[in-house]
Amino acid sequence: MSEVLDIGPDRVVSFSYVLRDDEGAVLDDSQGQAFDYLHGHANIVPGLEKQLLGRKVGEEVAAVVPPEEGYGIYRDDAVESVHRSAFPKDMDLQVGMPLRAENADGTAMMLWVEKIQGARVTVSANHPLAGKTLHFAVKVLGIREALPEEVAHGHVHGPDGHHHH
Ligand code: ZN
Repeated sequence: MSEVLDIGPDRVVSFSYVLRDDEGAVLDDSQGQAFDYLHGHANIVPGLEKQLLGRKVGEEVAAVVPPEEGYGIYRDDAVESVHRSAFPKDMDLQVGMPLRAENADGTAMMLWVEKIQGARVTVSANHPLAGKTLHFAVKVLGIREALPEEVAHGHVHGPDGHHHH
């Protein structure tokens, strides 16, 4: 008899999802396409990972994730206004755009463009979805045991083998 896998540590999970905010507005939609993650390796927000534990293929999960278990609380002190000239001239700055920045100690960090007003650009270390309660409608499409290499790397490798970002 073959064992029916449920979602748990070191298993690769495929799911489709629609993400809405408190008002029901769609924030993200996988359009029915499968999104793969490795369970137990912080590949997805902790609140969703927690609520997917033990689910099986075919299950539909409505998961409500508070900011603390999603993209974090919105921090006012993580926002800075800088002049447009601080960015490369040819850079097409857009609200919501992620930027890779460097801390004073040389470590990498992510910033996002939060607002553009004339020559002032507000950059923020808050994820664009920080402070939001996330309403996920998830459908579990597949579950498999991860390969040892995937577990060692902490992420899923595609069907074509190994690739890294
Ligand atoms: Zn890898």
